[in-house]
Amino acid sequence: MAPTQSVEELTEDYGKQLAAMRQTFASGRSRSVEWRKQQLSQLLKMYEENHELISNTIAADMGGTKMRGMPEIAAAQGVDEALANIDCWTRERWVEGWIHRLCVRPEPKGVVLIIAPWNVPWQLLVRPLASAIAAGNLAVLKPSELNPQSSPLIAKLIPQYLDPDCFRVIEGAVPETTALLNNRWDHIFYTGNAAVGRVVMAAAAKHLTPVTMELGGKSPVLVDETAKMDVTCRRIAFAKWMLCGQICVAPDYVLVHRSKEAEFIERMVKLAKDGYGEDGTQQADFGRIVNERHAERLEKLIKTCGGEVVHGGFEGIQKSEGFVPPTIIKQPSMDAPIMKEEIFGPVLPVIPYDNLEDALEIIKKQEIPLAFYVFSESSRNVEKALTAIQSGGAGVNTVFEQVVPESIPFGGLGESGFGMYHGKYGFDEFSHQRAIVRKSTLPGFQGTLFPLPKAGEALPE
Ligand code: NAD
Repeated sequence: MAPTQSVEELTEDYGKQLAAMRQTFASGRSRSVEWRKQQLSQLLKMYEENHELISNTIAADMGGTKMRGMPEIAAAQGVDEALANIDCWTRERWVEGWIHRLCVRPEPKGVVLIIAPWNVPWQLLVRPLASAIAAGNLAVLKPSELNPQSSPLIAKLIPQYLDPDCFRVIEGAVPETTALLNNRWDHIFYTGNAAVGRVVMAAAAKHLTPVTMELGGKSPVLVDETAKMDVTCRRIAFAKWMLCGQICVAPDYVLVHRSKEAEFIERMVKLAKDGYGEDGTQQADFGRIVNERHAERLEKLIKTCGGEVVHGGFEGIQKSEGFVPPTIIKQPSMDAPIMKEEIFGPVLPVIPYDNLEDALEIIKKQEIPLAFYVFSESSRNVEKALTAIQSGGAGVNTVFEQVVPESIPFGGLGESGFGMYHGKYGFDEFSHQRAIVRKSTLPGFQGTLFPLPKAGEALPE
């Protein structure tokens, strides 16, 4: 729905809300670790009391069954982690190395803006929010306008469970986000595509606001000649077709050793048919593509792929229903758009290679991806691949699992973004590490750092 106010009016309105939040921040309310714990506990309560509703709205937005809500509700693990560790994370750390007392005190940055995309609407707001709260910040959340059911529910539940003076939700699309970005924030945490990421960064630059960019890209999978094909194919199939491939760390394309190409394709086609039926329509869990524009985009990618469609294909696409079948493409043209753009859909290009160096060269020609996956039983090949290819995170003989634990960071590099979160990494991202030196004034410690100059006296060499 188009806003009734102009961008200028929205900017002013949000500016007033932000000013009120800044006053609350200045009052010191969020400095209290007890208050932070209480807010985090309220987030858990929100999930406990509304998980049915949350799952239903996600299914309404994205298709599939209520199971679709599981990765969303899994954001609660980030809240649990913060609650379990907040006393330790917030502690002032004493540092050795100087005659005076040195310490580093993690402090909140202030009022932060969290902008989320449509594909995992709850998790991508609540997980960074948990980090922001743990670090003592106040936050404004901006869900995606492409979630017509989830966005209003987020806007309803957040102020109901969290301190409404400190946490707000602003719904809307480009005009609202533009107006939010016209204001000065103390940190902006953006998840979405890189084109909008640049818009966000340009706006942040005007105010010297630090940003976290959680972007995407073409995450490649390498399957070498030693890979165990049964488990390899099952893991790739699960990750490629879960949420119709609309996950930032989903495998984008597969490079397979030529000796395994035929077996790989045969197994993947069988997994697609067993899981989703001959035409891909027999599994309600499959979900749907977020809107007609994205279904049309995928149709074009398949039509122009320049390879052989061995399963699925554009003929089965029902754009108005958001249905794109699981599709496997053998040997697409490397110049085709499908090998240039992030696919973000259930379409899997498969490219054979003869030696590892060739495969690594193909990947290196692309921008740095958010994830890189290697399936191999050769630790030499694995190390070679991990060393040659830069990526945000990586999985060896697995897909997605680098994103799950709170004990390792999640974030991109290069075109896939920068900054990181999850667990302590998220706490640090939303904190300012304030260095403090306490100096004694006792007898014997009465000097200055250097002797004060006296008029007319030469300074020591
Ligand atoms: P989207 O279209 O919902 O946009 C993301 C956010 O940006 C929304 O809140 C939207 O309102 C806002 N926005 C859109 N256009 C804008 C503009 N011109 N100015 C200001 N704000 C604007 O989602 P999307 O970008 O299509 O999401 C998919 C992308 O996100 C993919 O590239 C995917 O890889 C990436 N992604 C990354 C992660 C991660 O954690 N790194 C997670 C999920 C998705």
